[in-house]
Amino acid sequence: METIQGKSILNKIAIGRILYHRKSESQVVRRGVSDVREEIGRYEEALRKAEAELEVLYEKACQEVGKVNAAVFEVHKMMLTDEDYRDSVYNIITSQRVNAEYAVAVTADNFRRLFSEMEDEYFKARAVDVKDVSDRLLTLLSGNSLSGHVLSEPVILAAYDLAPSETVQLEKDMLLGFVTEQGSLNSHTAILARTMNIPALVSVPVKEEWDGKTAVIDGETGTLYIDPDEDFLRKMGKKKEDEENRERLLMELKDEEDVTLDGTRIRLYGNIGSVSDVADVLKYNAAGIGLFRSEFLYLGKETYPTEEEQFLAYRHVAEMMAGKEVIIRTLDIGADKTAGYFDLGKEENPAMGFRAIRICLERPEVFKTQLRAIYRASAFGKISVMFPMITSLWEVKRIKEIVENVKKELASRSVPFGQVALGIMIETPAAAVISRDLAREVDFFSIGTNDLTQYVLAIDRQNDKLDMFYDSHHPAVLKLIEYVAKCGHEAGCMVGICGELGADITLTEEFLRMGIDELSVSPAFLLPVRQKIRMTDLGNPSSLSTSGLL
Ligand code: PEP
Ligand code: MG
Repeated sequence: METIQGKSILNKIAIGRILYHRKSESQVVRRGVSDVREEIGRYEEALRKAEAELEVLYEKACQEVGKVNAAVFEVHKMMLTDEDYRDSVYNIITSQRVNAEYAVAVTADNFRRLFSEMEDEYFKARAVDVKDVSDRLLTLLSGNSLSGHVLSEPVILAAYDLAPSETVQLEKDMLLGFVTEQGSLNSHTAILARTMNIPALVSVPVKEEWDGKTAVIDGETGTLYIDPDEDFLRKMGKKKEDEENRERLLMELKDEEDVTLDGTRIRLYGNIGSVSDVADVLKYNAAGIGLFRSEFLYLGKETYPTEEEQFLAYRHVAEMMAGKEVIIRTLDIGADKTAGYFDLGKEENPAMGFRAIRICLERPEVFKTQLRAIYRASAFGKISVMFPMITSLWEVKRIKEIVENVKKELASRSVPFGQVALGIMIETPAAAVISRDLAREVDFFSIGTNDLTQYVLAIDRQNDKLDMFYDSHHPAVLKLIEYVAKCGHEAGCMVGICGELGADITLTEEFLRMGIDELSVSPAFLLPVRQKIRMTDLGNPSSLSTSGLL
């Protein structure tokens, strides 16, 4: 048996077979070949598969978002079969006697440049399509399509890295757990694993030879075991059973209220990344959804989700929650959550770059499409909306103007919508420091402790080498949370926490003493936090030191 120590994302056990997912090669290597005919054959095979994929995507998109919006896949198909593109690939393979990947990458570069230098805006925009089509071919040539894996049995996925867009597309029912070499404990991939309630380890040097072997993830110790013997499997099976028994016991709290021993009530909400996560929020009976990370509707796609597509998703969630509050966060694209069609360009410091509300304010049409979908869905449940990465008062004022325009537009078309509370995320030091002013503009605050920690401590949350420095309990972070709660309350603004710290039961009492009104956590943490709340007595003097800024 091989034993590998990693870092655990969720304290749970998984037992199953490994499916190895090869590292995606972002860098295409130029390789000399002796048989050019074989290389052309490989290219033609990839071409056929790409055409078939696009056909399926087109049909699916026609049904889900209509013919007009599905047309992008037809454009991609036309590009694939474009004679000039094909001739260029053939020429490079035969004249330079090189591999198909290299020929596709060079052709893609040339065509992209050609399109992007054109005057006509329509043709300029086609540069993105060239990239999409070429990436599809390159993925197929490397035999590396994760979505191409049809999982016939539940597996533990082992990969060099998983992007949030890949993670969100994984079939939850078929995924027992995953292990990756890259990725920090605070990355969105890690957060998604927690939200999806999936045992996962990072910092594991994964090996292709594990493919098909039996493995055990022990989330309690952060250990991966490959090829365990029968005895060990039995032992871990027993540990898993104990874990399930503990979960069953916690389930007795499912219908209990979120109230402390002295009678203080708190709103315990769940975080979701996709519509399918609502099932767990309902299973553990959360009082609402405090963070719907809507950007996941935008990831792993060829193009922007339409208003209709978004409306249906938001409406579905609102209806499933049957009158309980659903707080939708507008898209927080950027940094590690990227989608090619946004064409954001490369940035040196993406976490501090063109992301989240900054994109929405620069591209009001994208923003308004999402707001229209949210407001339309608000006629079907209790929807609130909040905005990520706020740093300044003017941003909030500008957002409110845009929201008013959207409401006017819907009203003029007699489209029904409900009363939508407006909130902002407090996740930058700037927003925390000016929270007194911001509180006068909105109905609620939701503190994003993941980013707040990153920006207060100047620690890149994506960098796994810095995990030991990423200390959300740092007094600077806790003092800011206390300060935000005070400023929010002075202006009659509700204050919640939706970052991962909200689920840290060693801090629950401290948060309650600060007067935090709402804790929104990954569904797997709902019952442990409920248990902690119900055991807390705020009537007694605290044994904990409060952060004492004020
Ligand atoms: C946060 O920053 O705490 C947060 C909840 O948002 P995200 O983790 O999606 O950046
Ligand atoms: Mg954030």
